[in-house]
Amino acid sequence: MGSLSPHMRRIVLTAPEIAERDWPLGCDIAVVLAGPDGREVRRRYTVRSSDGDRLVLDALLHGHGPGSSWAASLRAGEQVTFFGPRGELPLPPADWLLALTDESGLPAIGALAEAAEAAGRRLRVLAEIADDGERYPLPGNAEVRWLTRDGQPAGRPDLLIGALDGVQPGTGAGFGYLLGESRVIVAVRDALARLGLSRSEVYAKGYWNLNSRPTR
Ligand SMILES: Cc1cc2nc3c(=O)[nH]c(=O)nc-3n(C[C@H](O)[C@H](O)[C@H](O)COP(=O)(O)OP(=O)(O)OC[C@H]3O[C@@H](n4cnc5c(N)ncnc54)[C@H](O)[C@@H]3O)c2cc1C
Repeated sequence: MGSLSPHMRRIVLTAPEIAERDWPLGCDIAVVLAGPDGREVRRRYTVRSSDGDRLVLDALLHGHGPGSSWAASLRAGEQVTFFGPRGELPLPPADWLLALTDESGLPAIGALAEAAEAAGRRLRVLAEIADDGERYPLPGNAEVRWLTRDGQPAGRPDLLIGALDGVQPGTGAGFGYLLGESRVIVAVRDALARLGLSRSEVYAKGYWNLNSRPTR
């Protein structure tokens, strides 16, 4: 357990069952938590990496909700109930790769960049973060442009769409990744079409919902 930045906490889960499973690239787990009314809720966190009986998660402490509270207050030795693995990030044989994300998708992009690096490939990243103190460690093959909100609220498409204006498509076939707030994803996906990426050439996933109520 440790802090990667003021608002990103690294959590390491250990259990013999972890070693018995495969943990695909960018998969996630659903952590079982108590909601505000005591009812069970589940929150999803990406498996940043796995090693034997250990899973590494990086959780954003955004300040509201059962997931953020759990991640902020978890102590070494505490028991955690979770389901998984779920999902997988594709890594198609495209000529160029571009990822757009906010903080919630940075663990997935970290895992993706590592896999791309192992395959000798580069990854361009546009990453929205609260401020420069929230830069997340990504491997050297990731060419990152950090976009800081500097006091503006999260969950708006403006920064990512604005930054896309300065991005040129690479040569050949491309593939895009788009992770973050659900409505932001829809807005930015349309902007990505400008780079010549069709819908099937973009992996887009809403990772959270602005102003959601903790009912699930
Ligand atoms: C496949 C998948 C993988 C994910 N991986 C990760 C991961 O590795 N690390 C990680 O930190 N998150 C990850 N997320 C996102 C995380 O599950 C959501 O942010 C979730 O809503 C957090 O739950 P919560 O209980 O903290 O907040 P909720 O109870 O869901 O929401 C409470 C309030 O907080 C706001 N809120 C929720 N999430 C955020 C956010 N990210 N930024 C700002 N405000 C927010 C909501 O709009 C709402 O107003 C992932 C989501 C998915 C679907």
